[in-house]
Amino acid sequence: MRKLLVVIGCILFSSILLFAQVDIPDRSLLHKTEERYFPHHLSEVLYEDSLHLFDAQKYIIDMWVDIPNDTIWAQFKGIVESKSDTLTALKVHFIGLTIDSILVRGSKTTFSRPDTHLVINLPYAIPSGDTVSYTVFYHGEPIVGGGVFGGGLTINDTITYVDCEPYGAKRWLPIYDRPSDKAYLETTIHVPSGYKVISNGTLVDSTVTGGWWYFHWQENHTIANYLIVFAASNQFATLRDTFNYQTYTMPIYHWVSREDSALAATKFVRTADMLGWFSDTYGLYPFIDEKYSHVGTPIGGAMEDQTNTFFNLDLNWGSDWDWVVAHELAHQWWGDWVTCGTWKDIWLNEGFATFSEAHYYWHRDGEQAYHNYMRIYIMNYYINHEPYPPYSIYDPDVLFSVVTYEKGAAVLHMLRHIIGDSLFFESLRQYGITYAEGSAVTSEFTAKVEEVSGMDLFWFFDEWVYKPGHPEYEYGWWYDSLAADSFRVNLQVSQVQSHSWGVPTYVMPIDIFIPESGGDTLKTVINDSLDYQEFTFYTNSSPTNLMFDPGNWVLKEATEVAPGVKEKGSYTRGTNLSIFPNPARTSVSISFSLKNNKPFDIYIFDITGREVNRFSDRKGKTVWNLNDRRGERVGKGIYFIQCKRGDTALATSKVVIL
Ligand SMILES: [Zn+2]
Repeated sequence: MRKLLVVIGCILFSSILLFAQVDIPDRSLLHKTEERYFPHHLSEVLYEDSLHLFDAQKYIIDMWVDIPNDTIWAQFKGIVESKSDTLTALKVHFIGLTIDSILVRGSKTTFSRPDTHLVINLPYAIPSGDTVSYTVFYHGEPIVGGGVFGGGLTINDTITYVDCEPYGAKRWLPIYDRPSDKAYLETTIHVPSGYKVISNGTLVDSTVTGGWWYFHWQENHTIANYLIVFAASNQFATLRDTFNYQTYTMPIYHWVSREDSALAATKFVRTADMLGWFSDTYGLYPFIDEKYSHVGTPIGGAMEDQTNTFFNLDLNWGSDWDWVVAHELAHQWWGDWVTCGTWKDIWLNEGFATFSEAHYYWHRDGEQAYHNYMRIYIMNYYINHEPYPPYSIYDPDVLFSVVTYEKGAAVLHMLRHIIGDSLFFESLRQYGITYAEGSAVTSEFTAKVEEVSGMDLFWFFDEWVYKPGHPEYEYGWWYDSLAADSFRVNLQVSQVQSHSWGVPTYVMPIDIFIPESGGDTLKTVINDSLDYQEFTFYTNSSPTNLMFDPGNWVLKEATEVAPGVKEKGSYTRGTNLSIFPNPARTSVSISFSLKNNKPFDIYIFDITGREVNRFSDRKGKTVWNLNDRRGERVGKGIYFIQCKRGDTALATSKVVIL
């Protein structure tokens, strides 16, 4: 709570009072705690994808987990369909673990393991359309990695669990490790007696006698590799609930440690209500013939594994957990049922799930609760945490961040206002039906919205999804009395955001409300599309105010200024910052000034947007000796020097350090 309140401060104080029931200490818990950088610059990714010549049909996992010895013994069968007449080897991903043998169509075959891959040689070319199976026998101690290639299977005495998004599946399964190729799944896990195993889909068979127990789960809906999981614990308590919807009855389970069961009973109590609301608005819960569950696991946040969300109950989610419970549940539609086709499209998972947080509060607490949540916890949160330099939602620099989550959610919020609620939700439902149990990329989603709405929305998605940043409006207004019952209202709107980094001039419809002394309110819309633009309205009584986007439908900063500013450039933004020398080897002299000699702050950022140093309350010239905050010399490369006053960036310049 503290962290958020400090940032958004007292401006939002009144809104928080109105909406006191939601208390979110730190939204970044959802960003997987650590930000994982997206390696879209790695040529390896494209190389691998170009060799994907098959379509996975089904995976059959049979694994013995020797928990006391941290070791697995596994047999993994993949059934794939050839997509090429030249398919002579299957290239999948696999890291660590020892392969004992591989069978193809029942016969032992040769293989190689270049870096993170496993290349399985086929006895002859498999014609396109034919299926072939490979069975890998392997064992060893799984190694869980860190960073973007992290994740995998963690073995602990009390809780053993899998956590894979985005690239961790290859650390426990020999599998094509990309989100688009989905398959059916059967998982049999053998564990020492006393342990219970939870996995995707439904439990079809189990034996809980003897020294080793096994649990055989089956997922009859296709699943993406990063959502394949199991968890084993000797401490699971089972809390059961039911989702009744139309003619359907589906079990809801919460498998958590016995000591967490009272907490889970309280915090997950509205799961069935959420399933109903999302089924009403997004379409029937996709796994209605299976289950939905929460599984207590010590992961870095919560993870929407198919039919079961893995959830760390020990984290500080605030007093009201419905936002995160709704977020993960919504992923069952957006992420699991329809999976992002590539990681560049991750906002199709995360932006949709984040939007669903606010969408649930509309249902629970009413329309105003939706708007409060969207403004405070999504849009303002984004504005206050926008990375610098900014990057786009599509193909983002960082996979899990405010750009793909909060800005992604704001895009859907703006879209619903532009096309209207009925077309918006119909677009989502049609998008779901079209790509059900498959995957979709951004252009497929946007085409679906255009098809359903009948509108050309290229301008909207182009500026909001494919370009970075957000608009910063400054507006001023006045009115002229033309007659006793005729007044002309003049509005000037400037977009003062820097266009560095490809931040566009936004084309956006913006609601304008003008209350009048006679009691009426003129409600109109301007189509703002230039860096500076003027608009005129007429009223019958004198205007008492002008409200700029009063419903907060636009992700923006907006400041009312005195009218008369005719163009951008009247401000000090970027006009008088000078850096010398550039490139620099020993020090940089930074010169900048503001009107009336007001003080300002200087921030130094590295190329990833990380703040490396800061100088507060400066006037005139400051010399940076190229040290970071700890007094160590920064590395060679490109840095950004930004002058700010409060939260407003006034000028930014690039400097090269040699
Ligand atoms: Zn999510």
